[in-house]
Amino acid sequence: MKIILLGPPGAGKGTQADLICERFSVAHISTGDMLRAAIKNQTETGLKAKTFMDQGALVPDDVVIALVRERVLEPDCKNGYILDGFPRTVEQAKALETIAAIDAVIDINLPDDFLIERLSGRRVCPQCGKSYHVDLLQGATTCSDDGATLVQRDDDKPETVLSRLKVYYQKTAPLIEYYKAKGILHAVDGTQYYKILGETIAKELHAVQ
Ligand code: AMP
Repeated sequence: MKIILLGPPGAGKGTQADLICERFSVAHISTGDMLRAAIKNQTETGLKAKTFMDQGALVPDDVVIALVRERVLEPDCKNGYILDGFPRTVEQAKALETIAAIDAVIDINLPDDFLIERLSGRRVCPQCGKSYHVDLLQGATTCSDDGATLVQRDDDKPETVLSRLKVYYQKTAPLIEYYKAKGILHAVDGTQYYKILGETIAKELHAVQ
C-alpha cells in the first residue's frame, strides 16, 4: 500500500499516520520530520530549508522531491508507506508519479478555527517528537514518555500559523481536485475524536486493499 495523507496543517496527519503504520505495517514518511532532522543535524538540506520553514513557507520542490526519492528506496518501505505532508504542490504530485504508483489519498477536512486552535496549543517533545495539546496537559510541561521539556514549534506560533494556512489553500488544496479526478481521493471528517477518525481511515483503506 502506498498512501498519501492530505490535509491542512493541524489536521492530525502525524497522529493518523502513526495509527495507519501500525495497522497496515507500512513506513511513515513525513517530509516535515525529515526537514526538522536535517536542520538539527545542520546538513546542506537543513540549511536550505530553515528560512522557508521559519516563515511558514514551503521548502522548494526540488529539495523535498529529492528527499522523498531517496527515502522510498530504504528497506522499511518495501511493504509500502504513508506519505505525510508530501506532496504539497501539483509540481510535487507530478514528480511523485515518476517515483511510485499511489493506491489511495486520504484527505482530512477541518474548519480553520479548529486548525488555528490546535496548532497554537500544540506542544511537542524535542526528543521523541510526541505531540500534546496544552488543554490536555493539565499544567504538565514534560513528555510523559521520556521526561524532556515540551516546546512549541517555531512555526506553530500564531503569526506563522496563519501564513501556513494561506500557503495550504494556495498551493496544496488544489491537490484535492487533482486526486479526485484520478479517482483515488477519500475525504474524511477530521473533527472526529482521533481514534474514531483512525477507524474511519482504516475502513477506507481496507476497501482499497
Ligand atoms: P509539517 O511538519 O508537515 O507541518 O511541515 C513543516 C514545514 O516543513 C512546512 O511548513 C514546510 O515549510 C516544510 N515542508 C514539509 N513538507 C513539505 C513539502 N512537501 N514541500 C515543501 N515544504 C514542506
